[in-house]
Amino acid sequence: MSLALYRKYRPSVFADVIGQEHVTVPLSNALSSDKTHHAYLFSGPRGCGKTSSARIMARSLNCEKGPTPTPCGLCQSCKDLVANGPGSIDVIELDAATHGLVDDARDLRDKAFFAPVSSKYKIYIIDEAHQLGPGAANALLKVVEEPPPHVIFIFATTEPEKLIATIRSRTHHYPFRLVPPGVLTAHLEKICKAEGVEVAKGVLPLVVRASGGSVRDALSVLGQLLAGAGKDGVSYDIAVQLLGFTDGALLDDAIDALAAHDAATLFATIDRVIESGHDPKRFTADLLERLRDLIVVDALGETSANSILRDMPDDQLERMRTQADRIGTASLSRAADIAAQGLTEMRGATAPRLILELICGRILLPMSDSTDSGLLARIERLERVENIAPMPSVAVPAKSTGGGDTKKVLPVSSEQLTEKKAPPVSSEQQTVKKTNVDAMDVAGLRRLWPDVIENVKKRRRLTWSLLSASAHILGVDDKNITVGIANAGARDSFVRSESDEILRQAFIEVVGLDRKIEVVVDPSVTPNTPAARAVRVDESPSDVVQLSGAALLARELGAQVITDKK
Ligand SMILES: [Zn+2]
Repeated sequence: MSLALYRKYRPSVFADVIGQEHVTVPLSNALSSDKTHHAYLFSGPRGCGKTSSARIMARSLNCEKGPTPTPCGLCQSCKDLVANGPGSIDVIELDAATHGLVDDARDLRDKAFFAPVSSKYKIYIIDEAHQLGPGAANALLKVVEEPPPHVIFIFATTEPEKLIATIRSRTHHYPFRLVPPGVLTAHLEKICKAEGVEVAKGVLPLVVRASGGSVRDALSVLGQLLAGAGKDGVSYDIAVQLLGFTDGALLDDAIDALAAHDAATLFATIDRVIESGHDPKRFTADLLERLRDLIVVDALGETSANSILRDMPDDQLERMRTQADRIGTASLSRAADIAAQGLTEMRGATAPRLILELICGRILLPMSDSTDSGLLARIERLERVENIAPMPSVAVPAKSTGGGDTKKVLPVSSEQLTEKKAPPVSSEQQTVKKTNVDAMDVAGLRRLWPDVIENVKKRRRLTWSLLSASAHILGVDDKNITVGIANAGARDSFVRSESDEILRQAFIEVVGLDRKIEVVVDPSVTPNTPAARAVRVDESPSDVVQLSGAALLARELGAQVITDKK
């Protein structure tokens, strides 16, 4: 088997380390001016060159002509320490991840005082240094505190804050970073050329995206693609499939539907995304990326955009030009904001599809006018909630108890949802929204009553039992929510137990409505009221409330509809 690309193209001098100039330049300067230190800490994400740089540092220090940033490459030490070379007896690599290194550290402490065998320095490279156990760290500390002049330590770690402070404080710290896409793409291009493999336009950006900025990951992905390359090299389609990116056609369909305000097609496309086994999160990320690309095309025009969107195939670029024109600058920017926010919401969510649909709904609605029958019909078909203003408290998906479109969700407290997420609202808009809350009809509130009751149940069992089978909502105004309770006994218990505060809190959390609770005796409440029915349904073992995605959607949309109509 041929050498993995990452090893094959491992740098041997600092000048060949890509994307880490903020580290390699000062290190090179220190080497040139012979101002080296006895302990270094190289930190940063995995696969971005820490260990390679540690070896280069060792090579630069131990070159016969060193310390020098340009090791001669001819002396024995340089030959031993070249990338993939045999290594040197005076450069000792230890991996703290393996066993905490207690024995090794003691051994090191004892041997460190012996002079190097054939080089200037005895250099210890300690990888995954944050995993040094306390025993090993203490054994090392002694040497790191008062090192013999011929000893140099290089600690490498992804988590510098976990390295014990007494060691960390004695190091010069150099933080490595993920490599920017442009730099990484150029690097990959060079390697493809060196390997003599043709790579279709658009493939390398996919590789860069898949790597997340890690050189090691990028080369491992590229290696996989090159290994499977046919006579004509690596095609875009193969790369898309192998790397699990969303089929471009699905993205095109979604964007075209957005441009046409065609809700039916958009939701049908989401259906296809799921049906074809794509991950909704991945699709959302790809959709966001596409919106960003469209913004670039829109802002720069096709020709200049090409320099930013490296290697985009020409036909794709042309298609995107049309899409950008049809959607328009403001709508593109807004859509990207919504998608980005949705992507954040998806983290840890058990119903990512639901959030994907919400995202699309949010993007669509303000662009469509209120007679857009397709979208409204969809919302109406699914919604359980309407006229609910988007107060801070909105239910988000929690424990999933089964598949299907409708996920079970728990209402969450407002702390879990940052208000911050909503765009800043002018006081004028605030007034509009407030009016909406005030005008909220009893029907809307009643639809949420089962959810409120369920919330009450979590807060206090007594209040729940007083309300569950024998109470309903009689009215709501800008001060009070009036609740009718079947008999005076229950009403009195409710008041005495200060259950009104419990109910008030439940309304705040579930509906986002803060009102004083008024209770009156209302003998008309019968066990057949919706509340009672809901409670019976809720006697299932699950303690979660059923709320459809569309209900959430409708809640979220409340503000936008109003803002737009304004
Ligand atoms: Zn040399």
